[in-house]
Amino acid sequence: MKQYIFFGGTFDPVHNGHLAVAGRAAGIFGADGSVLLAPAFVPPHKDAGKILSFEHRLNMVQCAVSGKENLQVCTIEREREGKSYSFDTLHILHTLHPEDQINLLIGGDSLLQLHSWYRAKDLVRDFRIIVYPRPGEEPDKAMLRRYWTEEETEKLLSFVLKDVPLFPVSSTSIREMYRSGRREEAEKYVPEKVASYIRKNLLYFS
Ligand code: ATP
Repeated sequence: MKQYIFFGGTFDPVHNGHLAVAGRAAGIFGADGSVLLAPAFVPPHKDAGKILSFEHRLNMVQCAVSGKENLQVCTIEREREGKSYSFDTLHILHTLHPEDQINLLIGGDSLLQLHSWYRAKDLVRDFRIIVYPRPGEEPDKAMLRRYWTEEETEKLLSFVLKDVPLFPVSSTSIREMYRSGRREEAEKYVPEKVASYIRKNLLYFS
């Protein structure tokens, strides 16, 4: 049985934290070649007017994975258009690969919001959710129990990765660095090809 790890996000922009998280998860779960980075066509939780176009975000993810054998870009959400719900996307992946295990990879901050996702309970029932811890976003059992049953909480906590390095970086902080004129600092947090794509297209400067 092959492991697929679906890693969705806004990727505005994709950063070194995303790549490190995806690479680590691939190694731990033996999913080399099958971590799918999927920019959301319309991120359900973000204000569409405030994020870069899908094409720019996709191009940056393409730059970021080029030359990295363990990562691939997944464009299912563009083909489907409309809001990009992970529940629907994962079921499409399952239909495409019925013999294989489909995992969803999220960061610790997303775990704390997962109850608000579309068909959250069904998502947790149908798929394995791998959680990569994020600095300052400790998974707290009592907090999870406000939204999830004991059984669901145990399931969610059982795939929180332990003893992995943390990556204190976010797309928000990178956008802020660009907007406030700290380009060189911002470029430390994104792959070189992404930095040059951002420069060439004059992104995040206004
Ligand atoms: P923003 O700051 O704009 O909200 P972000 O850095 O959180 O962006 P997203 O594209 O929204 O990036 O995140 C995609 C997925 O990657 C989410 O599940 C998020 O939790 C996870 N993620 C992003 N950065 C990290 C990180 N540094 N460590 C662990 N998980 C991360």
